Amino acid sequence: ANRKFHPENSEIQVGQETIGGHKLGIIAGPCSVESEEQIIRVAKQIKKAGANFLRGGAFKPRTSPYSFQGLELEGLRMLQAAKAETGLPIVTELMSVKWIDEFVDSVDMIQIGARNMQNFDLLKEVGKTNKPVLLKRGLSATYKEWLMSAEYIMSEGNENVILCERGIRTFETGTRNTLDIQAVPVIKKLSHLPIIVDPSHAGGMSYLVESGAKSGIVAGADGLMIEVHNDPENAWSDGEQCLTPDEFGLLMEKAQKLAEVE
Ligand code: PEP
Ligand code: MN
Repeated sequence: ANRKFHPENSEIQVGQETIGGHKLGIIAGPCSVESEEQIIRVAKQIKKAGANFLRGGAFKPRTSPYSFQGLELEGLRMLQAAKAETGLPIVTELMSVKWIDEFVDSVDMIQIGARNMQNFDLLKEVGKTNKPVLLKRGLSATYKEWLMSAEYIMSEGNENVILCERGIRTFETGTRNTLDIQAVPVIKKLSHLPIIVDPSHAGGMSYLVESGAKSGIVAGADGLMIEVHNDPENAWSDGEQCLTPDEFGLLMEKAQKLAEVE
């Protein structure tokens, strides 16, 4: 992952799209896949607004075992149905090596969530595939730890790694996490890998998404991950931080203008 051995920025092919090139990679969709009808509807709306990837959790790493855990394989199937309708490549989280073959067969990019950033077995297994991997920063991981996790994937042969800053745990309790915007220039200096920003999980509240997204673009991020839900108040997970499709549309207009200036 070290820029010393690879001075040029890496561009990663994900489905028919790339991340790390000139164009911003915009990944949007609900926290959890809730039904086929929901994921198809949201996919159409985010595509119209300018997103180029669809996200949606099928396997959810919830803090409480009593919270909704995801629709699992049924959720993967619904994501594929949304891809068939819209053509958007799918990004979704893999939590266990148990499902790796299903993921390789059905998703365009495998997400490794913050809680699994140092699940070294999982990292090695996704490293043996050639699927692009979205590696989220651990809850309190340093830049070095995060890049070493990327190294675990790459050392097995898979160099298609994209990093995602999603906020870190600090002493501050007024927001869900603290968005570390400096991660973008620091990672760009240390590594050739693309880095995107997830302002939704960072702030944890929808009103914080716009400022986080804009600062990510200005800082030089290669893309954004934004949670968008058809009915945030009744979302099965992370409703407080989800934008409605209309709010997402307005954000995209501002983001694209900003990206042109940058
Ligand atoms: C998610 O993207 O839905 C998620 C669980 O994110 P994180 O791993 O960053 O908390
Ligand atoms: Mn979420």
